[in-house]
Amino acid sequence: MRLLKHYIQSFLLLEMFKGMALTGRYLFARKVTVQYPEEKTPMSTRFRGLHALRRYANGEERCIACKLCEAVCPALAITIDSEVREDGSRRTTRYDIDLFKCIFCGFCEEACPVDSIVETQIFEYHFEKRGEQIMTKEKLLAVGDEHESEIAACKQADAVYR
Ligand code: SF4
Ligand code: SF4
Repeated sequence: MRLLKHYIQSFLLLEMFKGMALTGRYLFARKVTVQYPEEKTPMSTRFRGLHALRRYANGEERCIACKLCEAVCPALAITIDSEVREDGSRRTTRYDIDLFKCIFCGFCEEACPVDSIVETQIFEYHFEKRGEQIMTKEKLLAVGDEHESEIAACKQADAVYR
């Protein structure tokens, strides 16, 4: 009996018509496909993208080289060297993040007492040469300088939910 039913269904091309009906239904439905990269979907303010180091409004680096981020990083992706300046303040001489090791857990950002190291909403980046995955202090500061307004806005929005 089952075989006969299957045979009749195959003969009448029922499955094909069902498939065409489904296609026809979606042909006139509201389109949900996003035309990336021209269009982008909304993103959480807590998205963890490319890292950045921030400065204060007067241009001074926020980072005080406490190394909490280095200690907390589960992937051992952060390397910091530091020195004490003439004015007695401590600052980094080297701050590297190896993005091939990083698992984008956000622990470094959570641990930072001065909101210096952050993960931005930038996810469109690539590397073309060996070694480019190392985000040096200069590169991190440059990202921070360029995107400070977005970073500050995300931090403010996050504070509302805490
Ligand atoms: S996001 Fe996580 S893995 Fe990446 S550098 Fe920060 S603490 Fe390390
Ligand atoms: S980025 Fe923050 S946690 Fe890491 S060394 Fe600098 S001040 Fe400390």
